[in-house]
Amino acid sequence: MIEVIRTAADMTSAMVRWTKENKSTGFVPTMGALHEGHISLVQASLRENDITILSVFVNPTQFNNPSDLEKYPRNLDKDLDLLNKLGDVVVFAPEIQEIYPDGTNLIQRIDLGFLEQTMEGRHRPGHFQGVVQVVQRLLCIVPASKLYMGQKDFQQFTIIRHMLYVWKSKIQLVICPIIREENGLAMSSRNERLSSEARYKAGEIFQILQWIKKHIQHNSTDNLLNEARKMLDDRSLSPEYLEIVDCTTLHPIKNIKEGLCAVVCIAVWVDGVRLIDNVILYGKLTPA
Ligand code: AMP
Repeated sequence: MIEVIRTAADMTSAMVRWTKENKSTGFVPTMGALHEGHISLVQASLRENDITILSVFVNPTQFNNPSDLEKYPRNLDKDLDLLNKLGDVVVFAPEIQEIYPDGTNLIQRIDLGFLEQTMEGRHRPGHFQGVVQVVQRLLCIVPASKLYMGQKDFQQFTIIRHMLYVWKSKIQLVICPIIREENGLAMSSRNERLSSEARYKAGEIFQILQWIKKHIQHNSTDNLLNEARKMLDDRSLSPEYLEIVDCTTLHPIKNIKEGLCAVVCIAVWVDGVRLIDNVILYGKLTPA
């Protein structure tokens, strides 16, 4: 059964009640327009906790592009139907003033250093400040035992992992693998805006990332990235960035022996829609 909570006060009192009852709680923050990627996070939480809370909140402060915010798909009824099939989920669906009672302009800048100066951060100025701001606010309202995030938003996960450490938070971060469509395209709420032709073409992104993974042992990262850029170009896919980076510091990796874990990350425009994806090349992602 689905229970919908609309206000921060009601959500907080429900949390207080569950804590008193010694219930473990799993929290899945989302912006709605749910798909199987989100569902996999909910299922992981349902398996591991007494109570699962999913938030649906399109956070205005993380959109650096007003038209992207305007076009972002919203359909709470459809989301609730989807969740209803999974089991008992508490949906926290607040209005903007519940999350930002003092307005959205009062942003207190947090120093994220290089973590926000590269890749997504470089191309979407202010984006991660908005992400950190909303996660901080949501975790005050929903101080769950476990926080579920997807590897799909790799840099976001890295930054939230860093922030939980800085905040000395007791919340356990759980990272869930990327769920893909049949052709390899990483599932995303933005895929709804792709034509079927563009959706087909976007499947090539994953194939090229897989190609990099296959050849990583015997090539320099510069050569691989140059080859991959040519492949993208041949398919008329224009990457905003394509980088091989350390999974923790996000610094570019030149020599594959550097670091314990490397990931290739990409942002590509397809048919007017900005898509992101990544593949771990070697090593293991650690949630803490
Ligand atoms: P969003 O609604 O896009 O803010 O995403 C909410 C959460 O779902 C984030 O932790 C995302 O990383 C995760 N997520 C989005 N797409 C996928 C996917 N294809 N596979 C796994 N997790 C995903």
